[in-house]
Amino acid sequence: MVLAVEAKKLSVGYEESDELLWAVREVSFEVRESEAFCIVGESGSGKSTVASAIAGILPPHGVTDGELRVGGRVVVKGNERDYEGVRGRLVTYVPQSPGASLNPYLEIGDQFYYVLSSLYGLSRREAVEKARAYLRMAGLEPDAVLDRYPHELSGGMQQRAAIALALSTGARILVADEPTSSLDAHLRLQIVELLKRLRAEAGLTLIFITHDMLLAGALSERVAVMYAGRLVELGPTREVLRKPLHPYTSMLIESVPVLGVKRPLKAYTGEPPSPGEPSGGCPFYERCPFRLEVCASENPPAKGVGESRRVACWLF
Ligand code: ADP
Ligand code: MG
Repeated sequence: MVLAVEAKKLSVGYEESDELLWAVREVSFEVRESEAFCIVGESGSGKSTVASAIAGILPPHGVTDGELRVGGRVVVKGNERDYEGVRGRLVTYVPQSPGASLNPYLEIGDQFYYVLSSLYGLSRREAVEKARAYLRMAGLEPDAVLDRYPHELSGGMQQRAAIALALSTGARILVADEPTSSLDAHLRLQIVELLKRLRAEAGLTLIFITHDMLLAGALSERVAVMYAGRLVELGPTREVLRKPLHPYTSMLIESVPVLGVKRPLKAYTGEPPSPGEPSGGCPFYERCPFRLEVCASENPPAKGVGESRRVACWLF
């Protein structure tokens, strides 16, 4: 089995005024080539931090530990990072808001030229030719957008253009960080359908970040659930949705009205702890209706359950 991404006890933190806060702690997971993999969790759980580490766009005050491989290349080893030849070539990125990847002062055609000339030295004509193909693939009529500035396009068109731009790099691993959360519900569905289709047609590896279990269910083959900077559950999406193992995963599923059979339990209320301040125990301890004594003092290690699932919970 070929792996597109392999994280081994990957930790990521941010250092600010001599203080280091860990946002992601010792997460281990693999993403297979050509698979659709979702990372799910509520806001602040560390999803974007993992996405940035994979895409090679951690800020300068980012600190890492453990190991991360992308496209077979070691990009993180301890606090050393090297994305040369990987960023933009093997892995590409679509942010939450297209505004973060589209330059407001450049026409769409020029944005392709800018990216493709700096990555591959393409001429303007070659870049525009490529842009046409990818814009069409993303469901846009090239002539209607090439000479436009981003603000002249609708939000949905902007996100399609951003996806086309990301894919035009030729990178086979696409990291999309909540790419639909700035869009209306019906556009959201269109963009999800587009990503599904592009992945199938081009055989891309899709790593999709979302806080929405329903989206994860519609889109992914396997899902990783994060809580307070930890990976708490991992497995085939269908199995995880049908029979969640971690109480936090159950909470996420039950809070989706369409999928949930019960209303959220009372004990689920409350806030996650800050990932920077580990209690020593399970991060879900305070909110967990099934907690045991051991959960207060010892963080459960991830354990394999059956062939394909993993959970970090003392109940298992
Ligand atoms: P999510 O995407 O799940 O909402 P993030 O990865 O954005 O989670 O955030 C995880 C934690 O890391 C949060 O506590 C957040 O404040 C912190 N964090 C994220 N990005 C930065 C950054 N660039 N600098 C400092 N802290 C950050
Ligand atoms: Mg985020």
